[in-house]
Amino acid sequence: QAPVITVDGPSGAGKGTISHLLAEELGWHFLDSGALYRVTGQACLIEGVSWDDHPAVTRVARHLEVTFTAADNGEILVAYKGRDVSREIRTEEGGRGASTVAAIPSVREALLARQREFLQPPGLVADGRDMGTVVFPHAPLKIFLTASAEERARRRFDQLRAKGENVSLPRLLEDIEERDARDSQREVAPLLPAEDAVVIDSTALPIADVFAKVMQEVSA
Ligand code: C5P
Repeated sequence: QAPVITVDGPSGAGKGTISHLLAEELGWHFLDSGALYRVTGQACLIEGVSWDDHPAVTRVARHLEVTFTAADNGEILVAYKGRDVSREIRTEEGGRGASTVAAIPSVREALLARQREFLQPPGLVADGRDMGTVVFPHAPLKIFLTASAEERARRRFDQLRAKGENVSLPRLLEDIEERDARDSQREVAPLLPAEDAVVIDSTALPIADVFAKVMQEVSA
C-alpha cells in the first residue's frame, strides 16, 4: 500500500497551497477532496437537482463524471461530463453548494471509494476536512492546518482583490464563519483534528514557514 499524508483544516488556512507544494516536493499524487464536493454541488445545478433533495444529490455524487487535468500553467482543470467547471466551482456559491451537499451522509459515503482510488504509488497528499479522520484513518502523517477566521478572510480578500474582484471583507468573514459553523456542527465527519494529527496554526506564519514545519514532520 502506498503512503498517504493527510492535510485537513478549515477553508482558507492554506491547505491547498501547502498540499500542492508537498505533493510537488515528494513527487506524489494529489487529492483535492473539496473539489469533489464542489463539483457535486455544481453538477446538481447543471442537472436541475435541488441541493435539498438528498436522494437525488446522492445519485449525482454516485455517478459523478469528473476529470482533473493539469493545464500547461500547472493549474488543475476540473471538468464535469467533459465541461470545464473550474471557475464556477471556486465561486462563493460553489463553496456554499459544496458545504451544503457535504452535510448529507449518503453523499459523503458515495464519494468515499472515489477518494480512496487516488491512493496510488508512489504516494498521495490528500487535502480536505476528514482525510485523517474518515477517508485515510491509517495515514502515518496527519497535518491539521488552521488559522483565525479573521486571518483567513483577509487572505481570501487579498486573493480576490488580486483577481480584480470587488469584494467586502466583512462579507467574506461572515461567509467563512457561516461555513465553519456548518462544517463543524454537521452530524457526519464534523471538522475536527484526528487524535494523532499534528496541529499547525498558520495565523502569524508566512507560507514558507508553514511548509518548513510540515517538511520537518515529513522527515521526522
Ligand atoms: O476545501 P474546499 O473549500 O474546496 O471545500 C469546500 C467544502 O466542501 C467545504 O466547506 C466542506 O463543507 C466540504 N468538504 C468536506 N470534506 C472534505 C472536503 C471538503 O466536507 N474532505
